[in-house]
Amino acid sequence: MNNRLILISALSLMAAGAVAAPKDYPQPEGMRPGMSEYWTPQPKVVTPGDIATNSAPSDAIVLFDGKNLDAWKSSRTGEAAGWDVHDGVVTVNKSHGDIQTKDNFDSFQLHLEWMVPENIHGESQGRGNSGVFLQGLYEVQVLDCYDNETYVNGMTGSIYKQKAPTANVMRKPGEWNVYDIIYTSPVFNEDGTYKVHPKVTVIQNGCVIVNNYDIQGTTEYVGFPRVVKHGDGPIILQSHGDPSEPISFRNIWLRPL
Ligand code: MG
Repeated sequence: MNNRLILISALSLMAAGAVAAPKDYPQPEGMRPGMSEYWTPQPKVVTPGDIATNSAPSDAIVLFDGKNLDAWKSSRTGEAAGWDVHDGVVTVNKSHGDIQTKDNFDSFQLHLEWMVPENIHGESQGRGNSGVFLQGLYEVQVLDCYDNETYVNGMTGSIYKQKAPTANVMRKPGEWNVYDIIYTSPVFNEDGTYKVHPKVTVIQNGCVIVNNYDIQGTTEYVGFPRVVKHGDGPIILQSHGDPSEPISFRNIWLRPL
C-alpha cells in the first residue's frame, strides 16, 4: 500500500468514528400571556339586584315580588295557593297546607327572605317551623332557632334530619332572615341509585352554614332518607302543623344554573 492509500484509509476511519453533530430540531415556542387566555364565549350581561331594595338580578325568575302568588299553587289541590299576601309579604295560611311553584326546576340558585313574628311562641320544632323543599324532595329547614334549642339536624338551615348547620346565625323574631341556597340536581344510575348526589350550599344572612353537602336522599320525618329517581321538581314552601304563629316570606327569586 502506498502512502496515498494509507492516508485515505486513515481519514475514512476517522470520519466513521466521529460524533455526529446534534440535529437542529424545532423547539417549543416560548409562552406568552395570551396563550393561556380565552375570550369566548363571553358571559351574558346581568344587571345585579339593587342593594338598597334587595331586588332580583335581571336574569332571575321572580317567584314572589310582594304582589301575588301567580307563580305558586296549592300542593294539596293544585288550585290557587291560598296563603295571605299583604304589605308586600306572604304569610303562611296553615289551613291551606304547603304551596309549590307551578314550574319545575333543575339546578338553581334560590333567594328568599323569611321572618317569624315578633310575638312568636313555642319551643323546639314547634316555633316558626316551615321549610324549603328543593325539587320537592329535600328540605332546607326554616325554624326560629333564636334562643330556641332543638335537635341539631333539625335546626334552622339544616338539611332536615341529615346535616346540621355549622352555625346559628338567626336574627331575632320580627327581623328578616335571608336564605341563598345553591342546589345542584343529582345524576342517577340506571338502577335508580345516585351516580352523583344532589348537592346543596345554604347561606343564611351572609354566612355559609351548609357547604356543598351531598344530600343523602329524601327528607323523611320518620326513618332515614330514601333514594328516589326523579327529574326536575318544584320549590315547595312548607305549612307546618305546629300551633305557633305563622311565618312570612318575601322577595323570592331563582336563577337556573
Ligand atoms: Mg320544616
